[in-house]
Amino acid sequence: MDKSNQATTQRKKFATETKQVLELFAKWLYQNREIFLRELISNASDANDKLKLDALRDESLFAEDSDLKIWVRYNKEANTLTVQDNGIGMSLDEVVDHLGTIAKSGTKQFIERMSQEGSRDANGQLIGQFGVGFYSAFVVSDKVEVRTRRAGLPTQEGVYWCSAGVDDYEVAPADIARRGTEIVMHLKEDAKEFLEEYRLRKIITTYSDHIAYPIVMFVEKTIEGDKDKDEKPQKEIQEEIVNQANALWTVPKKEIKDEEYQSFYKHVSHDFNAPLAWTHNKVEGGKHEYTSLLYVPSEAPFDLWNREYKHGLKLYVQRVFILDDAKSLLPSYLRFVKGVVDSNDLPLNVSREVLQSSQTVDMIRAGCVKRVLDLLGYLAEQEPGKYQTFWNAFGAVLKEGPAEDFSNKDKIAGLLRFTSTRTEDAKQTLSFDQYIERMPEGQDKIYYVIADSYQSAKNSPHLELFANKGIEVLLLSDRVDEWLVSRLTEYQGKKLVSVARGELDEGLKLDEQEQEELKKTEEDYSDILQRVQDVLKDRVKDVRFSKRLTSSASCIVADEDEMSANLRRMLIESGQSVPDVKPILELNVKHALLSRLKGETQDALFADLAHVLLDQAILAEGGQLENPAAFVKRMNDLVA
Ligand code: ADP
Ligand code: MG
Repeated sequence: MDKSNQATTQRKKFATETKQVLELFAKWLYQNREIFLRELISNASDANDKLKLDALRDESLFAEDSDLKIWVRYNKEANTLTVQDNGIGMSLDEVVDHLGTIAKSGTKQFIERMSQEGSRDANGQLIGQFGVGFYSAFVVSDKVEVRTRRAGLPTQEGVYWCSAGVDDYEVAPADIARRGTEIVMHLKEDAKEFLEEYRLRKIITTYSDHIAYPIVMFVEKTIEGDKDKDEKPQKEIQEEIVNQANALWTVPKKEIKDEEYQSFYKHVSHDFNAPLAWTHNKVEGGKHEYTSLLYVPSEAPFDLWNREYKHGLKLYVQRVFILDDAKSLLPSYLRFVKGVVDSNDLPLNVSREVLQSSQTVDMIRAGCVKRVLDLLGYLAEQEPGKYQTFWNAFGAVLKEGPAEDFSNKDKIAGLLRFTSTRTEDAKQTLSFDQYIERMPEGQDKIYYVIADSYQSAKNSPHLELFANKGIEVLLLSDRVDEWLVSRLTEYQGKKLVSVARGELDEGLKLDEQEQEELKKTEEDYSDILQRVQDVLKDRVKDVRFSKRLTSSASCIVADEDEMSANLRRMLIESGQSVPDVKPILELNVKHALLSRLKGETQDALFADLAHVLLDQAILAEGGQLENPAAFVKRMNDLVA
């Protein structure tokens, strides 16, 4: 470094989160530490992409050098490994911003989850999902030096950065001859394997084969001497391109091997796991031309439910990278899809704003949605095991689909999976089609019960009559389910009906004899209806005898046109105000508690019992009591 710069060298502390991430990486990345190279090459490729894009507007940026490459060099004497690019580079401020902090969304959550689950994250899945980035260099290095110069800036406005990765770094202006960034890693004693040519070659072809830029290594070659002249073989260092250096999506499908698709996936997604499935399509000859390579991952990323979750679709225009996180290319309910879309029609200077209102984008988006839904449909039919893996990871996201994407509602509905009163456990494996196929004669609706957990759905008193009649009921307890059934009201002409709502369906009504008997009992009990209503008048809208209960004493129901108890609860939790509607209490005249109620002559005990019947109905729904202490006291009084 130039002496004149010594005065301006600054020591700076890493942001706290950076430090935590560094510590976690060092610990957990150990078994997978070779991925540091993938991360640095991926940054170099991003930097070249950015330069290429900027140079479209400002050709002078290419004046210095327009042949974009990535170099990987090892030096056994110095014990260093270097990754260099001639891309966009960084200014001093950018170095401080980008290499001193981790600005990623969800970093905090990531750290929390790593601290909890890190010990179980032996394969580094979690880290893979996070996209480890630049800091992974410290997993193999005692010291990392960066020399960089931003494209367009003069040589003296380069930057030197250096850190041992503990808690601070050094940064200073420097004279940098070449545009772009050079990262020099001083390897740890136990990381010497990364000085071996064959090892580096292997890592590069595994993870970075289809990076669009040549990755150049300096390799030692033995040159045979001329035998006639009795020359000895000589060693020579030669440049060699070690990757395929083509953008995989541009290669014809039949020339691509599965392993190539898989390693490209790892490059675009930063995921350690292999993808579950992919679909690669070229649309040409029509009005629009574009290529899409779309992947379905096999595991959900940890931040899938974050508000700032980044979609994993990259947009290219004529092979020039335009942007990551291309939200307008796929609807939110397919946000788990990773991959690449390359359009020939969009302008190269297309911005996020333009993307949001472009007909070309609408068309590409419709095409991508179709491809993904077709792929999922194919898996569901042909590879149910894989489909189940998909569903377990992303089912709750796909359930947003019918509400978000009206035109594909039925197609998405066909892909949904549920648990029911007849499936074995909480695993969602049942499709609407399977449900319909095993409906008994005379049933023309799809019944569901909705609650805030699988257990409370399964134990809902509303299910009793259905169980007696042998009718299967879907058990809905995902957060998104209320939203789903509010938008998806029928499937294949069969109405979706909540068992907890309004009056019952014809097919479920009692036969004549049963009705006679019930009528008689109800008449016997008619006086207590009024008494219960008087006691509970502030808490319920109405009290009536139940036609759906068989073993529970009571339940609450919502009127046909009112919100269910579960939806109310969700809205209140999310801070929204909801109109105060009271539930309807239904009582089961066949239950022993009712005969006790009928025989109760003391008003105070009668009131206690009435309140308890309501409270337990609320609890059975998974609801909360306004006054749990009062409930406990009443129970005790009654038992005593
Ligand atoms: P990510 O690539 O996900 O943004 P990284 O930790 O890998 O996260 O990199 C952090 C940031 O540092 C990048 O976003 C980029 O701005 C900058 N950076 C890293 N490597 C380079 C490079 N070779 N050239 C230019 N900028 C770089
Ligand atoms: Mg990166």
